[in-house]
Amino acid sequence: MNIKKLQQFLEENNLPKFRLGQIQKAIFMDGVSSFSEITTLSKNLREKIEKEMQLLSFEVEKVLVAEDGQSIKALLKLFDGNLIETVLISPKPGIWSACISCQVGCAMGCRFCATGKMGFKRDLTDEEITDQVLFWRQYLKKNSKLFGNCNLGFENCDVKNIVYMGMGEPFNNWKEVSESIKILTDEKLFGFGSRSISVSTSGIADGIERMANEFPQVNLAISLHFASDEKRDRFMPVNKKDNLEKLRNALKKYFQITKRKVFLEYIMLDGINDAALDAKLLADFIHSIGNTHLLHINLIRYNMTSEELKPSSKTRTQLFKQELEKYNVNTTIRKSLGEEIKAACGQLAGE
Ligand code: SF4
Repeated sequence: MNIKKLQQFLEENNLPKFRLGQIQKAIFMDGVSSFSEITTLSKNLREKIEKEMQLLSFEVEKVLVAEDGQSIKALLKLFDGNLIETVLISPKPGIWSACISCQVGCAMGCRFCATGKMGFKRDLTDEEITDQVLFWRQYLKKNSKLFGNCNLGFENCDVKNIVYMGMGEPFNNWKEVSESIKILTDEKLFGFGSRSISVSTSGIADGIERMANEFPQVNLAISLHFASDEKRDRFMPVNKKDNLEKLRNALKKYFQITKRKVFLEYIMLDGINDAALDAKLLADFIHSIGNTHLLHINLIRYNMTSEELKPSSKTRTQLFKQELEKYNVNTTIRKSLGEEIKAACGQLAGE
């Protein structure tokens, strides 16, 4: 929803200022799916806005719901024809997290990621980013009765968390991403708390420092995946510019400013980064940063997007976790959701 256009519409039609508050509340808080549902407005006004304004900046091409009802993926067609994907995940009953995209494709080229294989097409605007959350808010309102863990009405069936972990690298589109965070945390609009928002980066060092200064309360996640420069260079081109030493320094500065927990994502790749030596290198990296209690490793199952790579077995993942714990590193094996509908980490490719 383009707020500036809405303000302009109200001014051009000489409508009183309080109308803006009424419309914003209905759209952003109540999750109406069309202007005609805003019953605090006269019928004539509803019809006029419906004709002249767009609620969402895309059309919904397809929505896929996983069999367990814990993840839902939407394919969205932007007005220029480009396609993006967004995912809604319920890791716990009643908790829904929206995983949103910030670019069409991605320039970072991580070898294990379907989005990376698409290449970069364009940045999303702040409106296109926040409209994904708006869409899920509307979707949950309309479909709340469909989901077993969510049958208590809209109150208990809303988006609670937002993660910038869909298509794209947030720090490559920081202007629009930072604007979108302001919209999501604006009390008159979405009203999310900063701590319910997470930004995930492939490891752009100056982006990490910028985020610490601009949004110290927003959560940070880093796709680390490898604890040696040699392996990270091979699989994540970002490492050629921002290697592990730069990442270490950026994290040190991040902790000086925020003192907040950071999640390091680590996909488990069979025979590539899942040996005892890899765990030792990872633990050394963590301890070299300091503030070990603020660093948390999430071990993630690799969702196959490439023939050359295979996921580590459950046993190997468990052993890797034990190895890290020997070195006093906080570690969780994260449950993978949405693989069957290609909505899991690294699987989004606009298809
Ligand atoms: S993992 Fe993230 S940064 Fe890397 S290519 Fe995929 S979308 Fe881009």
